[in-house]
Amino acid sequence: MFKKVLVANRGEIATRIIRACNEMGLKTAAIFAQEDCEALHIRKADEAYLVGPGPIEGYLNAHRIVDLCLEIGADAIHPGYGFLSENPLLPKLCEQNGITFIGPTSEAIAMMGDKITAKQTVIKAGVPTVPGSEGNIEDHKEAIKLAEKIGYPVMVKATGGGGGRGLRVAQNSSQLLEAMDAASREAKGAFGKPEIFLEKYIEEPHHIEFQILADKYGNTIHLGERDCSIQRRHQKLIEIAPSLLLTPELRKEMGDAAVRVAKAVNYSNAGTVEFLLDKNGNYYFIEMNTRIQVEHTVTEVVTGVDIVKNMIEIASGKKLELKQEDVLIRGYAIECRINAEDPKRGFMPYVGKITSYTSPGGIGVRIDGTVYQGYTIPGFYDSMVAKLTVSGLTWEETAKRTARALREYSVKGIKTTISFLTEIVQSEKFLSGDFSTKFIDENPELLNYEEKLAKEDLALIISSAIAAHSGL
Ligand code: ADP
Ligand code: ADP
Ligand code: MG
Repeated sequence: MFKKVLVANRGEIATRIIRACNEMGLKTAAIFAQEDCEALHIRKADEAYLVGPGPIEGYLNAHRIVDLCLEIGADAIHPGYGFLSENPLLPKLCEQNGITFIGPTSEAIAMMGDKITAKQTVIKAGVPTVPGSEGNIEDHKEAIKLAEKIGYPVMVKATGGGGGRGLRVAQNSSQLLEAMDAASREAKGAFGKPEIFLEKYIEEPHHIEFQILADKYGNTIHLGERDCSIQRRHQKLIEIAPSLLLTPELRKEMGDAAVRVAKAVNYSNAGTVEFLLDKNGNYYFIEMNTRIQVEHTVTEVVTGVDIVKNMIEIASGKKLELKQEDVLIRGYAIECRINAEDPKRGFMPYVGKITSYTSPGGIGVRIDGTVYQGYTIPGFYDSMVAKLTVSGLTWEETAKRTARALREYSVKGIKTTISFLTEIVQSEKFLSGDFSTKFIDENPELLNYEEKLAKEDLALIISSAIAAHSGL
């Protein structure tokens, strides 16, 4: 086993990894960028190192991070999500320097990081994909011809994309040309890769993804699925495990397909195979994320399996003890992404100081947070400040418990998505499982929520009223 794990990330996922290391008795080293010096992950780790002034010199500098490992005697790196997690350079540098990368091989990352290579690979493994272009598409005429063949609407997608960026829907040929230019420009800006391709736009699908665990000896299993259909602009807001839609037969079929996808690239460690499921029960592979995923917590809660601990054990060469038939799903879990954003103003990101912070608790409540009272949210980074994961024995209990926990959650000084999320989980459609990836677009009235007072705030008002009344 490793002696010291360097966590090449920040925020809640850095804390999540440090917690797993703590439980395993492993020393941890955090890294941080100058403007991030108040961040919580620095305090949670055994050691912390300043790696640069900003995100690029800090969390994105693979060479600096590997050199640091050598200097401080760290023998493994966990990349978390975002940043360097899907950059094949980091595992390659690790390999050259005798450090273990806690993740898949650079080859598997490179193959799945290119959505066209990924699609071609899974087609060979007999897994259905969304009809579309066979490769990248540049030529406008060629694109229009193909779109007419597969039928509008179509989706233009960035080949090297991720995080919901570089995606555009087109209803006709003039929109298609605009979409191609816009997607390509956005992809070049965000990922440095302008390549795009075309796919049939699946109407009102569910986003269903399977959590994979694979060791270095070819043992590959899945931990069931997550429904991540509650999205805004192709970015996930709420995730659920298990899906309310899948029959045991479909779960087995899609789970087997996900395992075949992983095996097709000799995958080892944790990964996620993403599918779209249409109204007729047809499923299509869309991509594989070769890293830990934000919403892994819902899977942990319903299976009881510590995914991050498994990642570390697998990387150290341990054989997977868990067998497919041992994976049992108990009850339901819902994860809500608490973002520092103002939903009423187009989800504008919020920076600033948190003047008060009260998190919920009680039965079935898990928080993976990164903020505290007095913390100033810096710009530059993701706006997600905490994840609330709630579990229950039935769907109804879980949804009602999630609403209760959100009502207890109070973050002051900044705008957050808490009230908006409360409105969603209390809505009739959410409760009845009647949602697709179009849910937020189709229900704009959800944005008319009133900022609710948390119980804590109410207590404050009451106590100040009493104080005023008694002349204190
Ligand atoms: P998840 O799939 O885990 O739900 P997201 O799509 O929300 O994750 O992405 C998690 C983080 O990783 C976000 O910060 C997102 O911007 C970033 N990210 C995802 N894919 C890429 C990519 N290909 N290149 C750069 N950053 C990415
Ligand atoms: P990213 O790498 O940015 O996560 P994905 O390919 O996983 O991109 O797609 C993100 C989301 O975009 C999906 O969850 C889904 O809502 C939507 N999407 C992607 N491809 C299609 C498609 N062919 N038809 C309809 N929606 C799609
Ligand atoms: Mg995706």
